[in-house]
Amino acid sequence: MSYKIAIDGPSSAGKSTVAKLLAKDLGYMYIDTGAMYRALGYYLVNKNISCEDEESIIKVLDDIDIDIKYIDEEQTVFLNGENINNKIRTQAVSDAASKCSTIKEVRCKLIDIQRKLASEYNCVMDGRDIGSNVLKDANLKVYLTADIDCRAKRRYEENINKRIKTTLAETKKDLEERDYRDTHREHNPLICVPEALYIDSSDMSVDQVVDKIIEYADGKKR
Ligand code: C5P
Repeated sequence: MSYKIAIDGPSSAGKSTVAKLLAKDLGYMYIDTGAMYRALGYYLVNKNISCEDEESIIKVLDDIDIDIKYIDEEQTVFLNGENINNKIRTQAVSDAASKCSTIKEVRCKLIDIQRKLASEYNCVMDGRDIGSNVLKDANLKVYLTADIDCRAKRRYEENINKRIKTTLAETKKDLEERDYRDTHREHNPLICVPEALYIDSSDMSVDQVVDKIIEYADGKKR
């Protein structure tokens, strides 16, 4: 049986950075489930399908094949055979991913892919509903968060480095909206399950967070 680590938390809490390092340290596969919702978001943006149009979104799900491959140890997302890894981090795609992830049928389709991957490999999987739903049986669960101002500042700096024009206030508002949708949706909302290790990374470095998780994992194995 594969060993599974689930990392959940709100946007810009540092989940993917931590999960990637942890996976590398342990020799596990890193699975970024947000990238799968982004792949669908990218499809909808390209096809001009409104994120409010649930019926059309459900209809196109059968036309969509989302696949994950590892190229140079990097998770790479393929949509109907096309490598879209460099195209899924735009504001429009983030927005579409956040909105379409509230739809039950969308979640069912992507959760199937996620569970299949996790059944085959030791993995560190990050997202919003991994410990609470996708991998309820995960060997280790982490809830990683940071206060909203700290997350907004991190996201804002990332955007500026990517030459995305925005302000700190806009970035914060966007995160608050995404937090609200993630925590209030009917299907698989973001929650911290009681058995998860809760980490507030506001005043912690990435290395400190990774060390804390490894220490906790070692303690659990003993
Ligand atoms: O983590 P990331 O920001 O890339 O995820 C994109 C969007 O997909 C998030 O805003 C979130 O609403 C959604 N998501 C989700 N469940 C997951 C992973 C991501 O609903 N397991």
